[in-house]
Amino acid sequence: MRKHIVAGNWKMNNDLPQTESLITDLKKQLQTSEAEVMIAPSFTNLWHAFEALRLDDIEVIAQNMHFAENGAYTGEVSASMLTSIGIKTVILGHSERRAYYNESDADLAKKVDAALVNNMRVIFCFGEELSDRKAGNEESVVKSQIESALFHLSADAFNHIVLAYEPVWAIGTGETATPEQAQDMHAFIRKTLTDKYGETTANNVSILYGGSVKPNNAKEIFSKPDVDGGLIGGASLKAEDFFAIVNAF
Ligand code: PEP
Repeated sequence: MRKHIVAGNWKMNNDLPQTESLITDLKKQLQTSEAEVMIAPSFTNLWHAFEALRLDDIEVIAQNMHFAENGAYTGEVSASMLTSIGIKTVILGHSERRAYYNESDADLAKKVDAALVNNMRVIFCFGEELSDRKAGNEESVVKSQIESALFHLSADAFNHIVLAYEPVWAIGTGETATPEQAQDMHAFIRKTLTDKYGETTANNVSILYGGSVKPNNAKEIFSKPDVDGGLIGGASLKAEDFFAIVNAF
């Protein structure tokens, strides 16, 4: 059975004191939940967060990594650097990485491979732009992003992949896909997986929705049968809001 997951992407927010303070608040709010809970602080705070949460049911994950094992890539961080401090999951392909750092589907395929070789789990993000949706191309765009970065993998590799559908027009904009729009796209994504890998694999992959999920809309979005959780940006920066979303399951 696939897992429910709620992951908070802190992006480039929270210095060390702010990280300490948010973690203290998260620990206070933490209750047993049916969903797996994750947070993705910045690289500089990963080790602190990992140490602070190692006995709690909150997994600390990375927001990005490079595809090379090591070498002359100034400013970058490798999978083995992450695993050496206990990080087991990485977000790849976030639309901000694609837009601001020109990450291509080909780059992302290499990053996915590097993460899997290092026994990491990947939360793979993708989603259409507003212009794609207006033109009615959202399904073909999403299908092509998934195919280019993931369809060279074996079915077994999908035990280590979580998908995150994040329509770019809904990220940080306050504009959320309606629960129906989310469900339609998640069902399409699952069908795309089914066509390539079969039903068993497709039914075991968790597909998260991301894009302005808030305490007041999480329950309805999470109630959809193909929505297995959320990738949360802005609302993950306040413990109360984040756990209101976690507890929406
Ligand atoms: C995100 O950045 O992955 C995201 C979904 O952000 P927000 O929740 O702020 O829209």
